[in-house]
Amino acid sequence: MKKQLIFIGPPACGKGTQTIMLSKKLNLPHIDTGALIRDVIKSQTEDGIIAKKYIDEGKLVPPEIVANIIKNRLLKDDCKDGAILDGFPRSLEQAQTLDEINNTFFKDDDVQMMAIYFDVDRNVLMERIINRRSCPKCKKIYNLKFAPPKNTNVCDVDGETLIQRDDDTYEIALKRFNTYENETKPLVEFFENRNQLYKIDANGKVDEIFEKLLKIVEEN
Ligand code: AMP
Repeated sequence: MKKQLIFIGPPACGKGTQTIMLSKKLNLPHIDTGALIRDVIKSQTEDGIIAKKYIDEGKLVPPEIVANIIKNRLLKDDCKDGAILDGFPRSLEQAQTLDEINNTFFKDDDVQMMAIYFDVDRNVLMERIINRRSCPKCKKIYNLKFAPPKNTNVCDVDGETLIQRDDDTYEIALKRFNTYENETKPLVEFFENRNQLYKIDANGKVDEIFEKLLKIVEEN
């Protein structure tokens, strides 16, 4: 069986942290769509130049660019037992694309899809975004206010200088919230109608949320 775990939630809801932990625990690859898009941007290809314009405006990158990235990633060997999809699908159109990929390339596999919705108190999210930093090497995520590193601006694990994402500014975050409400949130109802939705109260401590998440995944 191929398990596809999909994560839905507003920007900075904590799904990045949780999906990295889950990936290690379940031994399934963590597919971070935003990070893959940022890699394409760094490569300065035509797609990268286009993608940058959208990311800088807090908008979804055009569907054909994302579909290509995801398809190529899901076809890799390490996804044979499934994958943790962090940030894809992010619209109804992308949910359809995922179905198409599965029907085309994995029609002989028994694909089990679970969509996990992170329900979180919106008031804290902007604070989380503008204080978010991460390690460019090990990808560990910190928050200068809520989960700071031991030494100022340095990763606890490998001593790298922490970085801030270009789109983690107040202005771009406002647009990202808007995009989430208009384009991504409808996926909650979509997966609910397919009996594939699992809701999780994502307020509270990282370890407590992870325990709840693991329970949902292991029991279903
Ligand atoms: P994230 O790292 O998940 O917060 O995503 C950062 C940005 O990457 C988003 O604001 C979008 O511009 C872009 N992005 C990430 N995932 C997708 C997706 N599935 N479809 C289109 N754009 C995406």
